[in-house]
Amino acid sequence: MGRVLIWLLAVAPLVVHALPLDTGWDMRKQEVTGKFWHITDLHLDFSYHITGDHTKVCLSSKGENASNPGVFGDFLCDSPYQLILSAIQYINKSEEKANFMIWTGDSPPHLPVKELSTKMVIDIIGNMTTTIRTLLPDLLVFPALGNHDYWPQDQFPVEASEVYTAVAEFWKPWLNEEALSTLRKGGYYSQIYKSSPSAQPLRILSLNTNLYYSPNKVTINMTDPAGQLEWLENTLHASRQNKEKVYVIAHVPVGFLPFAVFTTAMRGDFNERLVKIFRNYSDVIAGQFYGHTHRDSIMVLHDGNEKPVGSIFVAPAVTPIKSLTESDGNNPGFRIYHYDDSSYNLLDLWHYYLNLTDANLKGEAIWKLEYIMTEIYKIKDLQPESMEDLVKRFGKPDSVDFHNYYRNYVVHYEDVKDCVGRCKVIQVCSVQHVDKDSYLKCVLEKKLIF
Ligand SMILES: [Zn+2]
Ligand SMILES: [Zn+2]
Repeated sequence: MGRVLIWLLAVAPLVVHALPLDTGWDMRKQEVTGKFWHITDLHLDFSYHITGDHTKVCLSSKGENASNPGVFGDFLCDSPYQLILSAIQYINKSEEKANFMIWTGDSPPHLPVKELSTKMVIDIIGNMTTTIRTLLPDLLVFPALGNHDYWPQDQFPVEASEVYTAVAEFWKPWLNEEALSTLRKGGYYSQIYKSSPSAQPLRILSLNTNLYYSPNKVTINMTDPAGQLEWLENTLHASRQNKEKVYVIAHVPVGFLPFAVFTTAMRGDFNERLVKIFRNYSDVIAGQFYGHTHRDSIMVLHDGNEKPVGSIFVAPAVTPIKSLTESDGNNPGFRIYHYDDSSYNLLDLWHYYLNLTDANLKGEAIWKLEYIMTEIYKIKDLQPESMEDLVKRFGKPDSVDFHNYYRNYVVHYEDVKDCVGRCKVIQVCSVQHVDKDSYLKCVLEKKLIF
């Protein structure tokens, strides 16, 4: 016995060291050298205040009784300023040193059109910009416009407007003149981020997908609103020539909604056209990042031969608002991505959240790490192949990975129902298919299995 123990002690360290070489998975090539925060859907409700009459806590509850209002908010209301402040303060104090932040829109509250105005919308975006700049003065931020960042909401125009001019002024400290000039004309831009003079350039491409959003009446019957699609293809083409990598950021995501059958967030024909462009340039695009659904979800982009070629992330909202009829809500959340700054390959994502009920109870916002993507799902990175491996596991009956995914989808909302049957079919098909033909096929096939 004694001899065996001595042998184990002497040999075991060698065995451990030898393992990574034998498996061919060399961590040194996947070093985390860059990080960026992603925050979205702040939805400030300036009217939020604690009062005995729960119908009057916030205008965004639209006369409904707030469910359990506290200092940091309520599940039937948009964000009080305290909630947004606590999120940005957490980032400010965090030991995670990020290279930049992406902020994918929706600052104003969910209010009827007549209760807002262009001036109010501009003031709220200005307020949120100032809050971020004051608390994170040294952080470069790449914003995108959300469908609520306009008045009347969703009705984004295809030419210069008061809102485009105002945000270009607010975001001057972060964006260069070329980016500001397209932002003023159509609400979109691209800009190079270079981590060091020798590094390959990364281009942040901020799309105004609100132009394609179904409720936007301005762009009905237009083939290329604000010339954005042509600009997108030209920009991606030039990026390929210049050996750049691209992160696409926008508010309204591509693909199918994970909670409604056969429903795209943007108009179907624009979804198909964007998917085609993203497939054509999958060698250039290293990741896509969206908001808008207020839930935490992923999608995998496939090429024409069903090979995974793109990783797509939808980050959940900071606002906890849900409507009275929705069964599940979301706790407030935001995240940080890890990437390799020579290839811009995505390596990991750390998601943070606030248990709103606890925060209100304690009178203190204690933001916590909710999950580390590679750990919870046992994947080696966030590359399309790893994501494909994960989403294939979701489809299995009683998949633990899907169980965890759905808890994260609602950001650990307490009263979450189990997602089975129809709910699971819609979730799994939306994660695996972003174009209409393959999505439809998935829904028809899977309906019989679950
Ligand atoms: Zn939103
Ligand atoms: Zn939105």
